[in-house]
Amino acid sequence: MRTGTITRADCEALDRTDPLASMRKHFTLPADLVYLDGNSLGALPRAARAHVGRMIDDDWGQGLVRSWMTAGWYELPRTLGDRLAPLLGTGPGQVVVGDSTSVNVFKAVTAALRLRPDRDVVVSDHANFPSDLYAVESAASPHHAEVRPLIDPDRLDLDERVAAVVMGHVDYRTGAMRDMAAVTERVHRHGALMIWDVCHSAGAMPLHLASCDVDFAIGCTYKYLNGGPGAPAFLYAAPRFHQTAEPSPQGWFGHADPFAFDTRYTPAPSVSRFLVGTPPLLAYAALEGSLEVWERTDLGTVREKSVAQTSLFIDLVEERCGDRLELVTPRDPSVRGSQVSYRHPAAPALVEALGERGVIADARRPDILRFGFAPLYVTYADVWRAAETLATVAGRHDRA
Ligand SMILES: *Cc1c(COP(=O)(O)O)cnc(C)c1O
Repeated sequence: MRTGTITRADCEALDRTDPLASMRKHFTLPADLVYLDGNSLGALPRAARAHVGRMIDDDWGQGLVRSWMTAGWYELPRTLGDRLAPLLGTGPGQVVVGDSTSVNVFKAVTAALRLRPDRDVVVSDHANFPSDLYAVESAASPHHAEVRPLIDPDRLDLDERVAAVVMGHVDYRTGAMRDMAAVTERVHRHGALMIWDVCHSAGAMPLHLASCDVDFAIGCTYKYLNGGPGAPAFLYAAPRFHQTAEPSPQGWFGHADPFAFDTRYTPAPSVSRFLVGTPPLLAYAALEGSLEVWERTDLGTVREKSVAQTSLFIDLVEERCGDRLELVTPRDPSVRGSQVSYRHPAAPALVEALGERGVIADARRPDILRFGFAPLYVTYADVWRAAETLATVAGRHDRA
């Protein structure tokens, strides 16, 4: 798209032919706001309100405790997992929804260490979101396993001591995307298990967890998936582990028969063994509203628009700012997630100035500016306005 002169009219024309243009009406967004932080908290799907209202008025208000069975509460961690499955490239019965990403990382690592009892190293991507690192460390330590930092994701340092590798699919800071199939294959060749964090790719592109032969994957539903603040995370476990994995912590929702109230723990012979306790049902209701929107679209189209928007933004910003902003996201869209990041010494101040002008982005200290593109509700005109506004605030900062 490097033509040298992309006009506002060009961007508006792209909106008119956008196959996803009709999706924006399924979201409630403040007027005149350009929202490029859906990679941190996705926008509000209109349907969420009705689902939360139904859960409160009917299921809780009228059904009360009976709703565990009559309203499907008990099954929700699995039914929502099955509805997420097509977005993740997995089959039914392989995903559960619950807890947070951090807790699910902990579960996957504990399960992996027990599945590889003769190994005592977990390789952990140090570019990954720090909470993942904290969870990996706390899972490894009671097993006396060593956490080996992965400094360069392109150079996996693996030996026969490595039980598992934990890696972010899309780097939350730079937006760089790893090759899920190739990395997983390489990790398997060394006899280790592969745990992917897909927080920054779920809902932004088609994922193929099953065909990439991933062992475990974890992600949150409040970013590109628009499940709402505090929405539950998900965990995928390959079916080969449904009878054998022993994740910690154990809780009654992971028991084969929770209502037997057995004092001895027998894990469910399914992915349910990755559940722990009572799920946050009001948050699940909001996620149901978001899944309704997802069921109206396909991720192939979402990815196409994401690539078009991130490419457009890179071009527009380059035209306006040149090298005053250092692009840290790969230019090659095949190794890029749905965000564009720049390095600038005044990143937090620029984000604040953008916000004052109605463009929401975010900063990651010390010097990273992040722009997330959620194709279901971000327009090409938004991309134009964000680039123009960024040029203005960066120019002012440089002159100040
Ligand atoms: C957003 C994010 C998290 C957040 O973890 P929670 O436990 O859900 O708060 C963890 N890891 C990554 C990679 C993330 O992007």
